[in-house]
Amino acid sequence: MDFSYRCTVCNASYEITSDRMVCPVCSRHQEKDQPLTGVLEVELHGTLDTHFNVFDMLPVEPEYFPSIPVGNTPLWEPENIRRSMGFGRLFIKDDGLNPTASFKDRASFLVSAAAKKFNIQDITLASTGNAGSSMAGVGAAAGQRVTLFLPKTAPLAKLVQALQYGATVYRVNGNYDMAYDMSLEFSRLKGGINRNTAYNPLTIEGKKTVSLELVNQLGQAPDVVFVSVGDGCILSGLYKGFRDLKELGRIDSIPKIIGVQAETSDAISRAFISGKFENIPTSTVADSICVDVPRNGIHALAQLKQFNGEMMTVTDTQIIQAQAYLSSSTGLFTEPAGAAAFAGFQKAAPGLDPESVIVLLATGNGLKDSSSATLGIQVPETLIDSVEEIL
Ligand SMILES: *Cc1c(COP(=O)(O)O)cnc(C)c1O
Repeated sequence: MDFSYRCTVCNASYEITSDRMVCPVCSRHQEKDQPLTGVLEVELHGTLDTHFNVFDMLPVEPEYFPSIPVGNTPLWEPENIRRSMGFGRLFIKDDGLNPTASFKDRASFLVSAAAKKFNIQDITLASTGNAGSSMAGVGAAAGQRVTLFLPKTAPLAKLVQALQYGATVYRVNGNYDMAYDMSLEFSRLKGGINRNTAYNPLTIEGKKTVSLELVNQLGQAPDVVFVSVGDGCILSGLYKGFRDLKELGRIDSIPKIIGVQAETSDAISRAFISGKFENIPTSTVADSICVDVPRNGIHALAQLKQFNGEMMTVTDTQIIQAQAYLSSSTGLFTEPAGAAAFAGFQKAAPGLDPESVIVLLATGNGLKDSSSATLGIQVPETLIDSVEEIL
């Protein structure tokens, strides 16, 4: 198999090199704090053996990947929810069981391998929290230096994780968009590889591995996938995996993908209806999908339109209720952004075929943000001194 980059806007081809990020032609029209124009995608040239593995479909050879077990996450069959909601073929893919406890490890894994291959030691990024702690952890396994720009609102656990893994962390006095711009400036001045989501094409390519695993685990493509959406890279990664499998003759059709956003951070949902992106300040309890400017918005929207996908929104209250319901009925504790996908499924359920194969992506572990999780439960306030008191 051979690999190259292709611009998702103008179709121009480029060689895969360490400094090729967005399309040099289309990105000339890039405005500040707007979705990226000219996002690149990896193009595959060749065929697959009958028995192939995920690495055969990735543009970096297996020997460059660090020894940290990313991916191959379990696919849950949630009996109680299947029964109570009447969907016998409902599955949950638990990506909170990745090494750093979020889906982001899939992207970090490929970026780290590429850096190794190109002989580059430094990796820089901005993150709402998970991408940063992920790159820090995967980079630690690879012996790479990771520099992270975190917005001041990042949950403590994600900051602590990144520091534990030995990253250099700069806490930005502002939001993710400000951290994003600073990380690009830092990379420009200091060199190394930038892992900003969508800006580095390997982030989307790494995330496609979830689709390859799903098809392996199910023995077929799912009918519907629910995924929470911030920048829109997981959504595009999902599509990329299914599209590659279809082009290589392994599946017949592209699943319906339903992107779920918080009502108060819904840039891609709004653009799905209006066709244009407006930069409106956002806030939601689901910090991982709290994004004013969805960096991969243009590319994500194009995929949704082409493959008959949908966007929907849920309230913060629905997210918090969904989180506690999921935890208490399955034993799967996911962070609010992960629970958003479940909240979307609950809301959409009346319109879904109960016979269809439905997958919910649980994108991060619940312990990542325990303070948000306290909103959906009653923490006992009184302390007891004896068992008699409670009998
Ligand atoms: C990053 C993230 C998302 C959203 O992914 P995007 O690519 O930004 O759309 C969802 N859930 C969790 C837990 C995340 O960390």
